Amino acid sequence: LKRAKHTRQAEVYTPEELDKARRRFTLETELRKAIELDRLELYFQPLIDMSNGFVTGFEALARWKDPDYGMISPVEFIPVAEECGLILPLGRWALDRACKVLGEWDKKAGEELPLKVSVNVSAAQFARDDIPNMVSSILRANNTKPQRLCLELTESVVVSDPARAAKVMSALRALNVSLAMDDFGTGYSNLAYLQQLPIDILKIDRSFVTHMLKERDKVAIVRAILSLASALGMETTAEGIETLEISQTLAALGCSFGQGYFYSPPVPADEAYEYMITRMG
Ligand code: C2E
Ligand code: MG
Ligand code: MG
Ligand code: MG
Repeated sequence: LKRAKHTRQAEVYTPEELDKARRRFTLETELRKAIELDRLELYFQPLIDMSNGFVTGFEALARWKDPDYGMISPVEFIPVAEECGLILPLGRWALDRACKVLGEWDKKAGEELPLKVSVNVSAAQFARDDIPNMVSSILRANNTKPQRLCLELTESVVVSDPARAAKVMSALRALNVSLAMDDFGTGYSNLAYLQQLPIDILKIDRSFVTHMLKERDKVAIVRAILSLASALGMETTAEGIETLEISQTLAALGCSFGQGYFYSPPVPADEAYEYMITRMG
């Protein structure tokens, strides 16, 4: 059990804390096993060009179906992976799997599809891994063009070490990979940095999007992010679009791309292929 560092007195867990600690320990053990046994799955959610409604790409999202515990959300297992270092193999797996799926889709279609795949890179992974080297070797191994890959980073990578973040991001850009700032508006990044970083896309967090038509403040924030992006020469993706009305409003406001249950939830690779093949320009 945990002990206070500088006193002799041992701290004791409350029953809730103990439950939480047990669950975490189990999750960590099971997650390690799931990665080793290649039991994680990558789902794909379409990214829609708001100007014409066509699919332009997909965001790759990790899924973990444990045989005993059932479906475990990435909201729960990604933080565990970050804490225990499993985020490095998990992150590499996600990137590799995403490239392999792109290749499988091209093969099925008999041509190189004009699609981008977006892969999430967590802050802990960004801090610890040599991302540019890792990315270029996985792209090479899969024969994937860097132009087809977008990496989604969060504001926290910038907050924790702005100088290093700028260096790593420039190195990624030099590979011709594009960069998106995920969950934009929920972090605490300094807006002055935004302008100096080689970011292609701002992803508007779904907390501003999903109920934006019922709350005036949210529309105001969405509008502000759209005009900030436009002033900085960046494109925008709105996440969490659940209704036709919101998709129409965002298109009218000039948002570049949309993502959300209104179009499709994240689905397995085969379903994503079927969805895309009838909805491409
Ligand atoms: P994210 O990168 O912001 O991904 C978007 C999340 O919003 C996904 O949740 C997606 O299913 C959900 N979403 C999309 N459209 C809608 C909608 O219309 N309504 C609602 N309510 N939700 C919507 P998901 O798949 O549960 O992933 C949660 C988070 O876990 C992701 O947020 C990302 O931060 C993290 N994550 C998932 N897969 C990976 C991964 O492979 N690597 C890393 N580092 N993080 C991952
Ligand atoms: Mg994301
Ligand atoms: Mg996001
Ligand atoms: Mg989000």
